[in-house]
Amino acid sequence: MVNRAAMLSVSLFFSSSSSSHLLFLSKTLTKRTCFSSLATMSINLNAHAFAGNPIRSKTPKAHDPLSPSSAFQSLKTHLLQNPETTSLPPPPKSPLFKVLPFRKGRPLASSSITGNNDDDDVPSWHLGWISLPDCKNFLGKCGVDLTEDSLVYLGSKVEDDVVYWAVDVSGESRLVPELGDKQFCFVELRTLMVATDWSDSIAMGELAIAGHARALLEWHNLSRFCGHCGEKTIPKEAGRRKQCSNESCKKRIYPRVDPVVIMLVIDRENDRALLGRQSRFVPRMWSCLAGFIEPGESLEEAVRRETYEEAGIEVGEVVYHSSQPWPGKHSSNDCFEE
Ligand SMILES: [Zn+2]
Repeated sequence: MVNRAAMLSVSLFFSSSSSSHLLFLSKTLTKRTCFSSLATMSINLNAHAFAGNPIRSKTPKAHDPLSPSSAFQSLKTHLLQNPETTSLPPPPKSPLFKVLPFRKGRPLASSSITGNNDDDDVPSWHLGWISLPDCKNFLGKCGVDLTEDSLVYLGSKVEDDVVYWAVDVSGESRLVPELGDKQFCFVELRTLMVATDWSDSIAMGELAIAGHARALLEWHNLSRFCGHCGEKTIPKEAGRRKQCSNESCKKRIYPRVDPVVIMLVIDRENDRALLGRQSRFVPRMWSCLAGFIEPGESLEEAVRRETYEEAGIEVGEVVYHSSQPWPGKHSSNDCFEE
């Protein structure tokens, strides 16, 4: 038993946590860390996957053409255009729209090789942004009419005059070969995370955008009906919130975030760390402990309770490290699983 264990608490405000992510962290720690004391830890924990989204750091004011409300009005105008004219450039003063399709939680992506010769070749991936007319045409070929309510506002880039949207096309399997012909495919988010150079801020930004979009689309999927009266909900504010369609209810619903703690319990005296495993893990797979924060609980209390519940160990000092988003499903066990 580990008594008086000091604890590094990586308190992550995930929309969900996952054992997969825990494994990732513990691997990182095992590789780079001496557990004999906190002072010797040299992990680069300043890098956080899915954080630092470059298109949502500052939401434009309502009158700005790039704002959710203005962009949504422009979007409606674009979608109402005759199909024969939708390939024309957008009218003046209208921002450019880029759409990121998702299928079963996986963003559209492409890959490329950069470098001048075989030795320098570096594979990299990019999000599969497509134009609004292309998105409409792709879906049209599948017999689906793209409407403004199926698009979710992600953010904008003032310097490029672009507004970014996400759309869930999970129901349209015929899109896969269609987009495949354009060298696009739907890739699991964790695969992209592993394939990302964490020192590349642009690539990390793309990962954050994909994570944000996935979390938002997942929430839309799970909040189709009002939890108060049971009526259907409808998207509002360009998909940034929802509202009950029942006129006598009109309950407002906002994207859900589930706070989670993930912690590495260390035993300074005996130079060891506490890891756990679930029965469904593959052999030799271990992870840090983690759990949801319960109502009325502080981070530190959650760390202590979860560790005691999982391992029967009472911990000593609790050290907060940092927080980050995590775009998984709303369960501690099924993140990134189909
Ligand atoms: Zn309602």
